[in-house]
Amino acid sequence: MSAAHVISMVPEHPRDSRMKILLVDDTPENLVSLEAALNGLGEDLVSAHSGKEALRHLLQDDFAAILLDVRMPEMDGFETAELIRSRPRSRQIPILFLTGYRNEEHLFRGYDLGAVDFLFKPIVPEVLRSKVAVFVELSRTNAKLRQQTDALRKQAEELQRVEQEVRQLNAGLEARVLERTEELMRSNEELQQFAYIASHDLREPLRTVSIYAQLLAKRYQGRLDSDADQFIKFIVHNAERMETLVHDLLDFSRIDVRGMDFFALTSCDSALDDAIGNIRPLLAESGAVITRDPLPCVMGDAVQLTRLFQNLLVNSIKYRSSDVPWIHVSSKDNGEEYLISAKDNGIGIDPQYAEKIFGIFRVLQPRDRSTGSGMGLAICRKIVTRHAGRIWVESALGQGATFYWTIPKKG
Ligand code: ADP
Repeated sequence: MSAAHVISMVPEHPRDSRMKILLVDDTPENLVSLEAALNGLGEDLVSAHSGKEALRHLLQDDFAAILLDVRMPEMDGFETAELIRSRPRSRQIPILFLTGYRNEEHLFRGYDLGAVDFLFKPIVPEVLRSKVAVFVELSRTNAKLRQQTDALRKQAEELQRVEQEVRQLNAGLEARVLERTEELMRSNEELQQFAYIASHDLREPLRTVSIYAQLLAKRYQGRLDSDADQFIKFIVHNAERMETLVHDLLDFSRIDVRGMDFFALTSCDSALDDAIGNIRPLLAESGAVITRDPLPCVMGDAVQLTRLFQNLLVNSIKYRSSDVPWIHVSSKDNGEEYLISAKDNGIGIDPQYAEKIFGIFRVLQPRDRSTGSGMGLAICRKIVTRHAGRIWVESALGQGATFYWTIPKKG
């Protein structure tokens, strides 16, 4: 295979963006004059002395334009053009035929073969240069467009790839979350069952201990020594306390056990009325004042909503300051949900405990001085959660407390 004669080195274009032009002529002098005419373009010129040689170059390289002599021995310009057109890789390259005569038949045949132009000998270098320059520029623009299209396609593929990866990651994540949720639900159910069974089954023996301790106190009070009297008192007191704890724990574990059948359109006003009714003696004894705004109707479990209000009211009275207890209950329409609040003028809560107090058996006062079991707010949270809402407190020590809870409009 003969080496390509790369002649032009005029550095108008950087090396990698130079286009190749194939010059095909069997007469070496013609080739020299073509090269001389096109040298100024600053592109790479490749010369071939025959159609065959031209085809060999076309196998190796891409060209911006081909200048093809019509009259050549062995394989003339038309035959060469036919072969060039038959190959997909070279089909689009513009061909300029170089011919000695204006022959109609030649013209037709040439255009038929996809010639873009004819140049008649003797060639005028300026005409040749400007014609070739147009095709080379076209080819350069074409190559750039192809590059950009390629880059865009690659980019699109890469976007798609990232999307696919994200989708796969998401699917994996969802599966893991689902698995974990199921696991948690299982262990939660087990815990619920455990709490329920334990508290249920503990009640009986505890009751027995309590009764016998009380019996002991009644029958033997003052008949044993003072230490024994004191011990019996402790047993009675602690057995009672434990009964309360077990009772509240059972209460707590029963909340989720109630089926959804208990959900119905419920007036929060009636639930609050019932809660107030249930704690009348406490209200009377404390002189507590309750003020209220109209409350909404929601889809909920009436018994549990009453319980929720009741626990909050009782706390506001239990944790009152030296002032007469005052509680204001109100509600706000928040679009998708209602926000209900109970504000009091009690001792308030240090904000650092604002979350802790909703835990099971959590009290802020020392156990021996606390009246409650620490289950009241845990029960409130469980009820609100079961109603797909949230509950929290906003407070500061000595500033009273406001308990907020939400409930969706569509239950
Ligand atoms: P309990 O009342 O049985 O102790 P709760 O779960 O109802 O248990 O309340 C937990 C703790 O939160 C209480 O011990 C109390 O310290 C604090 N608390 C609850 N409600 C109020 C309130 N309205 N004002 C001040 N402190 C409160």
